Amino acid sequence: MVYWKSNLPIFLTKRNAAKGSLVYSKILILRFPQVEAKKPIVYHLVKDFDLVFNILNARILPRREGMMVMELSGTKNRFKDGVRFLKDQGVRVQNASQEVNRNDDKCTHCGACTAVCPTGALEIRRPEMSVAFEQEKCSVCELCVTACPVRAMDVTPSNQVFFE
Ligand code: SF4
Ligand code: SF4
Repeated sequence: MVYWKSNLPIFLTKRNAAKGSLVYSKILILRFPQVEAKKPIVYHLVKDFDLVFNILNARILPRREGMMVMELSGTKNRFKDGVRFLKDQGVRVQNASQEVNRNDDKCTHCGACTAVCPTGALEIRRPEMSVAFEQEKCSVCELCVTACPVRAMDVTPSNQVFFE
């Protein structure tokens, strides 16, 4: 069994560093099928897709799948291309980060959360005066979690699987 863990080995490509174009970043869990575990797949993310990666944890078991947790950064389009490439190689890609969800049964639409939300993910809709939550705008800053008097906002691990 090979086991490797590291904290902050950040690999920058020259082009990315020069452009200062790191605008999209996610922590991903990659699961490699046995046949792909020895291929230099991660190397291609840097060379072909101009992405920056930071491996947080990696494990490869002989005759079993490999698992890697990494932070992957780049421009949004390159990020998507890179993840699509991983999928084409048979790698299962999962988002390991967190997300905020609203319990609609608890929400009283009091509007308190809209005063603290910095991204406009929580917004009062007029004339009906209801509070809408657009999760795709949420930056997971968690300000609404403590602002909500009835604890309707919750932070949970994101299980999003890309392109499946
Ligand atoms: S603060 Fe809580 S109850 Fe009030 S609108 Fe926001 S989510 Fe709903
Ligand atoms: S976590 Fe932050 S960005 Fe997301 S809805 Fe709550 S206040 Fe807005």
